[in-house]
Amino acid sequence: MRFACFELDGARRVGVVSDDGLHIQALALSAPEAHLGVLALVERSAQGLAPPPHDGAPIPTDTVRLEAPFPLPRRNIWCVGRNYHAHAKELQASVFKDNSAAVEAWPIVFTKVPECVVGPTDVVHIPHGVSEQIDYEAELLIVIGKGGKNISAKDAMQHVWGYSIVNDVTARDVQMRHQQWDLGKSFDTFCPMGPWAVTAQAMDGNAVQVRCWVNGDLRQDANTANLIFGIPTLIETISRGITLLPGDLIASGTPAGVGMGMKPPQYLKAGDTVRIEIEGIGVLENRMV
Ligand code: MG
Repeated sequence: MRFACFELDGARRVGVVSDDGLHIQALALSAPEAHLGVLALVERSAQGLAPPPHDGAPIPTDTVRLEAPFPLPRRNIWCVGRNYHAHAKELQASVFKDNSAAVEAWPIVFTKVPECVVGPTDVVHIPHGVSEQIDYEAELLIVIGKGGKNISAKDAMQHVWGYSIVNDVTARDVQMRHQQWDLGKSFDTFCPMGPWAVTAQAMDGNAVQVRCWVNGDLRQDANTANLIFGIPTLIETISRGITLLPGDLIASGTPAGVGMGMKPPQYLKAGDTVRIEIEGIGVLENRMV
């Protein structure tokens, strides 16, 4: 199933998206639950509870404002750097300078603050005066369902509730000048997410195509089957000594084709549109201002 978070008449609602995407059937959640977005359903699922009953008639999708399925994650979004070989290569002279075997044996994990999440129709604000090197990163987002600690790769897929899409927007100059990446990844509006969340019963994130266009120009095109560290390994690694919680989000890394890797680099500017499509989920498209 696909679940969307949306705004209707000033209130946040959560609903089931029809197969053709044209309608959303709202669910009977309390206002505090709906405020959490799809997280409310993930938490129910972790407690063994089904989604609540329908509330009212199906609503045409084009009459509501879609919000991010997880409009304010409970805590930072886990993110993975250097997770496709071709992307590791395109940034080997800059972001991934240390390519020793010891460093490449483990995934790079960093985080983005929850407050940088915006919805699928929202704009991304370029922080002029702070960064002039804004880049896009199309990524499959993994949603943890059942929490746990020291989860083995063998059991990891049982902990996946579902998936969505994120654009891990990055200020390259800020990313490069600090020893850690969180600052360059966490500017306000730097995590467009959506258009909705898809359950793991409805799709397998281990082999889906990820594509990204900038102003209609295809820049990224890769399959998650080619991840250096696949979904089970990411969950095993991040949960080593850290308890993963229902609703935790893991951005799985971006394919080759980012703006910084082009010759010369092509950074985003106001008016540019970034469109990301992942098979089985849909399209996330945001404009830069
Ligand atoms: Mg990324």
